[in-house]
Amino acid sequence: MDGDFCNDHFALIYESRSDQFAAIAPFIRQGLERGERCMYVVGEDEATEVRSALRNGGIDVDAALESGALVIETIENTYLKTGSFDADEMMDRYAEIIEEATADYEAFRLAAEMSWILEAEVSVEESMAYESKVNALFDDEDAIAVCQYDRDRFPPTVLRDVVRVHPHLIYDNTVCHNFYYTPPEEFCGPNQPRHELDRMLGTLLDRTEAKTELQERERYQQRQNEIISDPDSSFEEKLQDLFDLGSERFDLELGGMARVDPDDDRFELEYVSGDHNRFEPGVELPLSETFCALPAETGSTASVADPDVDGYADLESCREFGVRAYLGTYLEIDGGSDRAFAFVDSDARNEPFSDDEHAFLQSMGQWVKYELEQHHRERELERTIDRLEESNERLEQFAYAASHDLQEPLRMVSSYLQLIERRTGDDLSEELREFLSFAVDGAERMRRMIEGLLAYSRVETRGEPLEPVELDEVVEDVRENLQVRLDETDAELSVEPLPRVQGDGNQLRQLLQNLLSNAIKYSGETPPRIEVTAERDGTMWELSVRDEGIGIEDDARERIFDIFDRLHGREEYDGTGIGLALCERIVERHGGEIWVESEPGEGSTFSVTLRKAAPAE
Ligand code: ADP
Repeated sequence: MDGDFCNDHFALIYESRSDQFAAIAPFIRQGLERGERCMYVVGEDEATEVRSALRNGGIDVDAALESGALVIETIENTYLKTGSFDADEMMDRYAEIIEEATADYEAFRLAAEMSWILEAEVSVEESMAYESKVNALFDDEDAIAVCQYDRDRFPPTVLRDVVRVHPHLIYDNTVCHNFYYTPPEEFCGPNQPRHELDRMLGTLLDRTEAKTELQERERYQQRQNEIISDPDSSFEEKLQDLFDLGSERFDLELGGMARVDPDDDRFELEYVSGDHNRFEPGVELPLSETFCALPAETGSTASVADPDVDGYADLESCREFGVRAYLGTYLEIDGGSDRAFAFVDSDARNEPFSDDEHAFLQSMGQWVKYELEQHHRERELERTIDRLEESNERLEQFAYAASHDLQEPLRMVSSYLQLIERRTGDDLSEELREFLSFAVDGAERMRRMIEGLLAYSRVETRGEPLEPVELDEVVEDVRENLQVRLDETDAELSVEPLPRVQGDGNQLRQLLQNLLSNAIKYSGETPPRIEVTAERDGTMWELSVRDEGIGIEDDARERIFDIFDRLHGREEYDGTGIGLALCERIVERHGGEIWVESEPGEGSTFSVTLRKAAPAE
């Protein structure tokens, strides 16, 4: 019942037990949870049924009864204690019950069956007088009551009166604000028909106005949605449309937006609707001399209907710019300057701005804030991407130039070493020959490293466009390339039928060649056992190369993909440490991932994901 005046006395009209307890069980449960004393008044023969219905509603009835938080009282012991019903006496009794309950508990909560009225032969007037007293008593106390009426048992005429005297009703599990409510004092008074007519006409008008207002609100909301979701207009165009929409909705001449900085007392108009000589984008003022200082202070919406009445006639924007009505909101912009979004008029208003108008302005403001922050984020992102691309390009160029230019002097070293070797022949001592062969070896290793580096730097720049590639064929090529080593090591290579993927054939060949030659190289003491498999994973294929070799320790699984990183000395296993780095870069270029799972001593499985081949056009 938020935001709605509500007295503490409800009527529940129910049509079945389940209907009744759908409302009453949560009502009692909430009371118990809040530490209130709850009393249920019921006919003697119904007590058992009520207990089990409350239990079904999730209430620990026995514990609540035992602690005294819940009391189940009979009608015979309350309303009809003296044998017949006496309203005043009942009020006294309730006053006592409430006093006793509120001494020990947070509040008092009552649910009462009213069927006894039927048997006690209470007249309508009497029961209305009683209702009026209940209203008054419960209003002043920390107490709330729900009187329950069984629709099947009460005649419609009585229930009609029940409806008339309760400001709020629970019906069909809905709490209703009651348009038919007539205060009991009027209901019983001498001018009943006139009062009723007044009330009916007033209600008619109220409801029609409320409906029209609701429709109008919906229409403006709808128009706002249309403006902001228009895919063909720019932010500036949408802003102008919102200014027009707001001007119409608030009946104010123009809308605008300004950059504001409360710390520096700055206000600079950024956008304004229509053409004006005074209000132009770029106009600067101290923020404190504008109405926008008001929303800036609260951080939300603020309005002035009449500066003379509200005491703002001295503001420069009022004196110099003639602003006499103002509705504005403050927008804190994450990552950019804060803004004030406002509508103004040169005439004061008679009426203050309504909650609805504030809410509509706020909803427009929220969109503007979101858009500005979004623009800001996009710009940041673009800048970051530009910077990254630039630095990436520089790195690639560097790696390319370095490795390319290093080849030349290295070739010279190699060829002169070979020349010396050839010329001197057998003349050299054993020792010098050994030195010379170390030098030749070193130069050869360096050549391979430089070649690897060059290949690495060229993955992005020299790659072919990605197109459908038969992995079966790629593996066959690789098998041919590696045939000598496979034979030498007595390797067993089994390959499952493989799919078509989207890729650069040369790079995929390089990738598989590196993975397979590693599987051969790191096979350990026994002949290599290698398996190549593929498995579907959504739009990707997961290709795996499994070996039964030496395996990789947990803490090295990431590191082996770094350039030049190796886990073994050259004496143990020859290599440059570029192979897997190159694989990772190739897979990245293909939009996939590469990783390894391994059990040291048992073997390793290198897996890569690759996109499914694009369907033929
Ligand atoms: P290289 O083989 O030239 O040293 P790689 O980049 O291909 O360089 O591999 C990096 C390291 O990863 C290797 O030195 C090796 O220690 C480890 N490694 C690669 N493949 C395997 C494998 N199949 N089994 C065990 N270790 C491997």
